[in-house]
Order: sequence, then C-alpha cells, then structure tokens
Amino acid sequence: MLDLSSRPERNWSWPTSILFGAGRVADLPGALRDAGASRPLVVTDAALVSMAPVQSAIAVLRGAGVPFGLFSAVQPNPTGEAVDAGVAAFVAGGHDSVIAIGGGSALDAGKAVALMVRQSRPIWDFEDVGDNWKRVDTSNPVPVVAVPTTAGTGSELGRSSIITDTGAGRKMIIFHPVMMPDVAILDPDLTVGLPPALTASTGMDALCHALETFITPNFHPMADGLALQALRMIKVALPCAYADGADLEARSDMLVASGMACVALQKGLGGVHALSHALGAVYDLPHGLLNAILLPHVVTENLGAARQRLTELAGLLDLPGGEAESVIAWLVDLRATLGIPGSLRAIGVSRDRLQEVIALAVQDPCAAANPLPFDEDVARQMLGRAMA
Ligand SMILES: [Zn+2]
Repeated sequence: MLDLSSRPERNWSWPTSILFGAGRVADLPGALRDAGASRPLVVTDAALVSMAPVQSAIAVLRGAGVPFGLFSAVQPNPTGEAVDAGVAAFVAGGHDSVIAIGGGSALDAGKAVALMVRQSRPIWDFEDVGDNWKRVDTSNPVPVVAVPTTAGTGSELGRSSIITDTGAGRKMIIFHPVMMPDVAILDPDLTVGLPPALTASTGMDALCHALETFITPNFHPMADGLALQALRMIKVALPCAYADGADLEARSDMLVASGMACVALQKGLGGVHALSHALGAVYDLPHGLLNAILLPHVVTENLGAARQRLTELAGLLDLPGGEAESVIAWLVDLRATLGIPGSLRAIGVSRDRLQEVIALAVQDPCAAANPLPFDEDVARQMLGRAMA
C-alpha cells in the first residue's frame, strides 16, 4: 500500500458567478433576473448609503424600473440586532432577494439577512463550529447579488458572515455554503473613491487572507494556488491603489485578488484572524486595520513552525534575500508604505483587557489553523509583540 497520509481525503467547495469589469454595476438588473429575483432588498452601510457607489447602483435599479427596498441600518462590525432588523425589513417589504452592496460589514449583513429570512433557529445556532451548518434550512434559499465597494474581505465570494453577538460580547463566524452569493459584481469603478487609509486597511485584510491561507499546514493545493496568485497581485497593486486611487488597473487587480483570497481561505486562516476577531469584539476596531498591524508580529511568532512555507513564498514572490525572514521584512515595509502603525497601542488597544482578548481568541474557529498550535501562551506572545 502506498502511504497517502500527505494527500489526505478532503471535501472542497468552489465558487460563484462573477461579473468583472469597470462599469459592470450596470448589469445589476440582469444579474437579478439571472438569479430568478425581481423585488430585491438593498442592504448597505449607514455611512455608505448616500455615497457614489451605492447611489450609482440605486440609479441603475431605478433606471430599469426594478421595485426595490433599502435597508441601510448596518454599522461596521454588524450585530445580530442589525440582521434581525434587516430580516424584518425584508418580510415587511415582500422582497424575494438581497442586493448586498458595500464593504465587508454590508456584505456580511446582507448575506446573513438572506440566510435568516428562511430560518426558525437563532443565528448563533449556525456558528462555524463542527456540524452546526447542517442545522440550516436550505429549502427555498433567498438569492443574493453582492457588489463590493472595497477590495478586502472578498465576502462577495465567501460562504460565511462575521456577526457580532452583543450579548456574548464576541464575533461569530456564521457559515453555510448556501450563503455564497449567487452573483458577484466586481466593478473597480465603485472602489475608485475609497480613501487611501481604507484602501490600505481593506487591502491588507485581503493580503492576510492569502498569506494565512498559504502558510497554514493543511492539504488544499487549489487554495494554495489562488492564495499565491492573490499575493502576487496584491504585492504590486496595493501600493499603486494606495498612491493613486484612480488607478483602475490596480483597483481591478485588488478586487480580483481579494475575491481569490477569500475563496482560498476555506483552507483555514490562523492567529491574525483569531486575534483580530477577538480584538474587534472587545474594542470595536476595524478588522482590516487590526489585521494589518498584527500580521508581521504573528508571522514572526510562527517563523519556526512555518519556516519551510515562508521560504517557499519568499522565492515565489521574488523577495530580496529569499528567506522566511524576507516575508516579514516585506510585510513591515509594506505596512509602513501604507501609513499603517506597527503597534496596537497606536489605535487605542490598552493592556487591561488583553486577558479577555486571549480567552476569546483561543476559542475562535480560525485559531486551529495557525501553524504553531495556538494556545493562550502563544496568543499572549503574539499580542505582546503587537503591543510593544
Ligand atoms: Zn479578514
């Protein structure tokens, strides 16, 4: 018998219909029709609703005579209460579909609203732990068209939403394959107005997805391929999109790369996301910014456990030196180029609640994929580096 322990049995899942290109938001009515929908609820972010990307999507719907409702009570780090309010708006308006438009918060909220419209259990019953996802009632799913206005989370191609349980004081990953949007419209025009600081932090989230995926020790070569190509594109495109927001080539590459990184992350993430979910829940700070600050510190802590993978990556990305340490040097440089601080203290994280953060982080579903077994001591070490 051949020993196939390095090629273990796995179940893999691959994605959705994508309409890519500048101006493709004009295809929104057709995308809805293709998804079998005619009365959508537009779910978006309170801060975004009056801004150009959402308004251009609304103008397209009006122009095509599509009867739609608007739910814009989504805040960053969306809560279960916001999802409940979205479900109520969906039912009250007699809608048959969701258009989720915005950054990660709006997309996650829109996907969760579409899921929860058909459920009788509370949303927390579907936390991405064990077989919880099998509890989802998948009869008559609500179609979702997702339109990202940032290039970061890639949630438009993802099968989960991050929703904050305000009662328990933690972020939960709500997962089911049916949550993958039916159609994603990747229109780089919609990201042109994104300010440099948000371009940087959301872009670093995409980079984190790709990098954590690439170094996690799990057998998923398809995800590795996507993660690697995403890293190659982000390495070139992110500094360009940051320096010149109107660079449509860079904006295009960031949108595609963030989507690829999100598809790839089904392989597993790691310590950056375990810690940033916990820090986000305790301090209500932006996900991308937390990740960007944490990434080099977490990779440094993982250096021993992930040396082979990081060395391979340094070669594939053509980094000077070609060693595992070269990846860290690149990340630190990039973070500085993008004007992102190196310490969590710079964004208001204090030491007094770190034990709470550690306790949440070790329970996070992303923790198990970290190259170094992720226990309280490892989490404390990583946070110590990131607070220094
Ligand atoms: Zn993320």
